[in-house]
Amino acid sequence: MKYTIIDTGYFYADGGAMFGAIPKTAWRRRYPSSKSNICVLATRSLLVETDDGHILLVDNGAGTKQPDALRHYCFFDCVDLEEELLKRGVRPEAITDVILTHLHFDHCGYTTRRVEESLQPTFPNATHWVSRKQWNNCLHPNPLEEDSYFTENIQPVADAGLLRLIDEETEVCPSVLLKLYDGHTPGQIVPYIQTGEEVLVFAGDVIPIAASLSPKWISAYDTHPLTSYYEKVRLLDEAVRERQTIIFCHDAYTPMSQVKKAGKFYTKCNG
Ligand SMILES: [Zn+2]
Repeated sequence: MKYTIIDTGYFYADGGAMFGAIPKTAWRRRYPSSKSNICVLATRSLLVETDDGHILLVDNGAGTKQPDALRHYCFFDCVDLEEELLKRGVRPEAITDVILTHLHFDHCGYTTRRVEESLQPTFPNATHWVSRKQWNNCLHPNPLEEDSYFTENIQPVADAGLLRLIDEETEVCPSVLLKLYDGHTPGQIVPYIQTGEEVLVFAGDVIPIAASLSPKWISAYDTHPLTSYYEKVRLLDEAVRERQTIIFCHDAYTPMSQVKKAGKFYTKCNG
């Protein structure tokens, strides 16, 4: 089992939006920001090569297909993901599984690529794992999420017969289990990856940055904040009990950490 975290790029987000009802006087001690409240966020991807021959990619950043629509986020230091994989000896054709936590633009942009006039799956031999709830939400988005979806990121994968929709907790292979969480958006996949020594939890936007370990620190982008609270507690209680390592997909400063609980509070183990 081998795994590599790949930062596919960075973007700017408003700190007020990231922390919802929490005042800046509280969150500014937990996440760096500019005077105008701007925070730098990462778009993080995880490459996993299992002992039984699976090569998995979890999320893949915003990609480069919608520069005009996304200019407001000021993406920078974006990598060419195919090149990054090749540097690690992995051809796009060799990826067996693409796991998409959800279909918001900042998690699945590299899933398809432009080839002349058409859009093609970037990973033509991969099973693409998405929850049915999330797929339906993407096809029929509510007004709050409609700007977060670009169907061109995923429809060509469905057209090619590469989409695998799941309705419940599902095993990809003995070392990779997909669990489902609601809150930020319906039916987020959180992969649990057994590496041998530890279990990695790619928490996606259930817990996007280390500062959002506090269950009440909920992003204003979450469509069902009360559900987010309970889902975070569910994920974190297990992570503390089982000493799992959480990967924070948007934290530009802390890619991963184990968590501990003191009273009602959860914090990272290394800080
Ligand atoms: Zn996100």
